[in-house]
Formats: sequence, C-alpha cells, structure tokens
Amino acid sequence: MIKLHDKVFKPYLGEDEILGAVKKMATEIAEDYKNEVPIFVGVLNGAFMFVSDFLKAYQHPCEVSFVRLSSYHGLTSTGIVETLLDVPENIEGRSVIILEDVIDTGRTLKQLVHLFSQTNVKEFKVASLFYKSEVYSGEYSIDYIGLEIPDNFIVGYGLDYNELGRNLREVYQLNQTDMINLVLFGKPGAGKGTQAGFLKEKYNLKHISTGDVFRYNIKNGTELGLLAKSYMDRGDLVPDEVTIDMLKDEVEKNPEAAGFIFDGFPRTAAQAEALDNFLQSKDMQVNATIALEAEDDILVSRLLERGKESGRTDDQDESKIRNRFDEYNQKTAPLKAYYEKQGKFHSVNGIGEIEEITGRLSVVIDGLS
Ligand code: AMP
Repeated sequence: MIKLHDKVFKPYLGEDEILGAVKKMATEIAEDYKNEVPIFVGVLNGAFMFVSDFLKAYQHPCEVSFVRLSSYHGLTSTGIVETLLDVPENIEGRSVIILEDVIDTGRTLKQLVHLFSQTNVKEFKVASLFYKSEVYSGEYSIDYIGLEIPDNFIVGYGLDYNELGRNLREVYQLNQTDMINLVLFGKPGAGKGTQAGFLKEKYNLKHISTGDVFRYNIKNGTELGLLAKSYMDRGDLVPDEVTIDMLKDEVEKNPEAAGFIFDGFPRTAAQAEALDNFLQSKDMQVNATIALEAEDDILVSRLLERGKESGRTDDQDESKIRNRFDEYNQKTAPLKAYYEKQGKFHSVNGIGEIEEITGRLSVVIDGLS
C-alpha cells in the first residue's frame, strides 16, 4: 500500500505485466509499420514512461514527437480540452500513431482525432496502453490496446493523482475499502440536503443530490432538464432509466472522491439495485443508509416555508407535496426493508436543531466499519 496526498492505493499491475503489454503492442505495430518510418506521438504528461519503454521495444526506424492536452480538473460533459502542445510539424503524408497511456471516457481521444483530422497525414492510428472499455463512449475504435482494465482510479507508470505517483514503476489502484458511501433517506423536507451540506465537509465526501442535478439541467435548458421537468412539476418521480444513468455520470465525474453522500437517490427498488451493482463494479459499496424521520404535517409546513424562499414550484402547492409523499410511501419506503436486509439501515430523529441532527447522524457514521 502507498499513500499519495490523502488517499491510499494498493498494488494493481506489476512491472513485468506492464512491460509485457508494451512489448506486445510494439510487436503488433511493427508488423503493420516496419516497412515505413512511422511517427509515434506521445500524449503528455501521462504517456512519457509508456513512450520510452515502447520505443525501446520497437526495433525499426521511427520518429517520435509529443502533444499535450489539458483536461480541466473537474471536467464535465462539456468536454473542454485545451491544446498546450500542438501536433508536430512535417507530418504530411506520414503515418502517425498516437501513444496514449490510458483511454477512459474518450474525451481526450476525441480532441486528438479532431486535431489530427485537420492535418494531411497518410494515416492516423491510436494505441493505448490501458483501456477502460466499460466507460469508453467515443466513436473512434482504438487500434492497438495493451491491457483492458476496469474503471478504477489508477496511478503509477506515468499516471498521477494530483501530480504524485508518475514515477512509480508499477500501477496502483485506489483502495476503495476505506471509502464511506452514504445514502440519506427520508421524505421531501426531512432535511437531507441541509444535513448533506454539513456531512460532506465533516467527512470530506462528495454530495450528489439527484433533485439538484435535475434542477440544474432544467435551469440550463438541457435535454435531460426538459425530460425531467414535466415529472418534477407534478411531483412525480422521473423514470428510473434516466435517473440511474444520470447518477452514474455524476459518480464517474468524481473518480477521486473519498466517498459519496447520495441524497434523493435511490428512490425506487430498481434504483437501489442499480446502485448496488454499479458500486460493486467499482469495488465500492453503500456503507449505510440513514433515514431522517419526521411527521408529514411538520414536513408540509417546512416545505411550504422553503417554497416561499426558494421559489421551487413543487414546494408551493400542498397537493404536489402530498403527491410526493405518496410517491415516497409507495416506491421509496419499501427500500427500508431492502437495506435492513443488508444490515445497513439506520434511523435518526429528524426533528430538532440542525446541529443536533448533524450530531445524531455523526454518531451513526462514526460507528461504521
Ligand atoms: P428532491 O429535490 O430530492 O426533492 O427532488 C425533486 C424532484 O426531482 C422529485 O420530486 C422527482 O421528480 C425528481 N427526482 C429527484 N431524485 C429522483 C430519483 N432518485 N428518482 C426519480 N425522480 C427523482
């Protein structure tokens, strides 16, 4: 185990395994290009080690160059990628093979394809040492792959966690077992959002509120927002498929999180099962589901009060509020049994001063593991 900044990583791929994959790629590419002089273009910073070992394994005439792109920290679906070091000169009529350390969602690759499609190269191929096929959503099919790996956060052999770890000879994987993932459970108005705001600071967690993500999308007029709006306006649940995909995206966007607070998700049995399966595929799990309990009448008056301040239309009309309670009773309340069966359900009195309630939640969280 090693520690980089605040996170612990465990060994994942040894030096021999990595070099074996690099040599396999060099052999495959040599088969296709040994009769010409290709230009290998490494993608900085991560690919420097791969490029070095690759070239040592590639025993035929070739040239080497580099490009550098910067994906902004916290890059979202807008996919803005900035070019810091442009395509090499004099590549007209040449065969270019991009050497990438890792391809995951494919956002950087999309930018690379775009960059090179504007040049007059003879041919353009992509070789990636690591490939996360589960999350790749690009259109370009990768030409040469070293190793297919699951979607875990990795460091070492050129790859970093906030710039540390690039000089490791082996590849390490984020140790997820010390993560805390919480589901905050409770009816609308129970205080999930308020409490999540305190808990995320206290335990260094990423807060995902599906309601907030929907509202953000509505405000920005996205396709997702348009789809969700009619359901939300009525106080109905947004269909599972849409909500589950959105939730997965939000988790994917935060590969470095020390854990998550799921607020307003899951709300149906299908969502709970999807969450379990999804987290399992990432070597993660829900550690606890904590319900904030309060009576309906208190919640109605809290929500009507909130509606006056926030302008949320679903909080301003008692019949819509009651409809949300009905949805909760029918679809969400049964999840209590689901999590009880897993020994993960906890209940906390949601009435009292805000700090007092944070204190009650902390007792549950501190008692975990
Ligand atoms: P909230 O802010 O959590 O009260 O959510 C507001 C509205 O967003 C809900 O009434 C639903 O229409 C929609 N919504 C939020 N989370 C979910 C979810 N997990 N499943 C379905 N709909 C949701």
